[in-house]
Amino acid sequence: MKNITIAIDGFSSTGKSTIAKELATKLKYVYVDSGAMYRAVTLYAMQQNLISEDKIFIKDLIKVLKDIKLAFKFNVILGFAEIYLNGVNVETEIRNMKVSRLVSKVAEIPEVRKKLVEQQQEMGMNKGVVMDGRDIGTVVFPDAELKIFMTASAEKRAKRRFDEFMERGEQVTFAETLKNVEYRDHIDTTRKDSPLIKAEDAIEIDNSALTRKEQFEKVYKLAIEIIESV
Ligand code: C5P
Repeated sequence: MKNITIAIDGFSSTGKSTIAKELATKLKYVYVDSGAMYRAVTLYAMQQNLISEDKIFIKDLIKVLKDIKLAFKFNVILGFAEIYLNGVNVETEIRNMKVSRLVSKVAEIPEVRKKLVEQQQEMGMNKGVVMDGRDIGTVVFPDAELKIFMTASAEKRAKRRFDEFMERGEQVTFAETLKNVEYRDHIDTTRKDSPLIKAEDAIEIDNSALTRKEQFEKVYKLAIEIIESV
């Protein structure tokens, strides 16, 4: 059977990565979390004091982009690839609220996007990849055989993210989480370079009222239909 490329885009915390991971495992494809790459660059900028709540040194950040090496390494216990920033596993650290608050500002910078998109395209060169993000079906893989666009209400998405924060013992409120989800939606949909929009040929799935299993079955069925037809 021929391998295809699967692009899963959508708003923050729509459960894209859960579906993408499950799909990749079932199809024996590579899963790439493109959001993790933007988060890792943000973490690097924080470590270098190039970004804070009220300041961002864009020119300096662009200059040090060449020093940022990102890699994914498969964790057999977890069953998916974790992200490494200059050789250090930052999979957990990049998910905290501080990074979440700053990441969309970093993701707006065209030079950052150019660097990460090139790396993403390289990772998907041989197909057999499921990648999730905001611009995968529109910019990274406009020729992907299957494009999914996931949506859900902001409250539902914030609840999902809030539960994750609680599981990790992070001190945040639901109101703060909801605000962050709405803030990122705003920046992601209105930025000049590669805004979050549904690709014309993407299939939209609103998962507000779907269980995780129903959602997965829907996407898996679509993938199999396409794989069998190519
Ligand atoms: O997917 P996740 O919520 O972890 O992504 C974090 C942020 O990275 C998003 O809010 C968005 O600003 C940015 N992003 C992006 N393009 C992608 C993936 C993520 O701009 N392909």
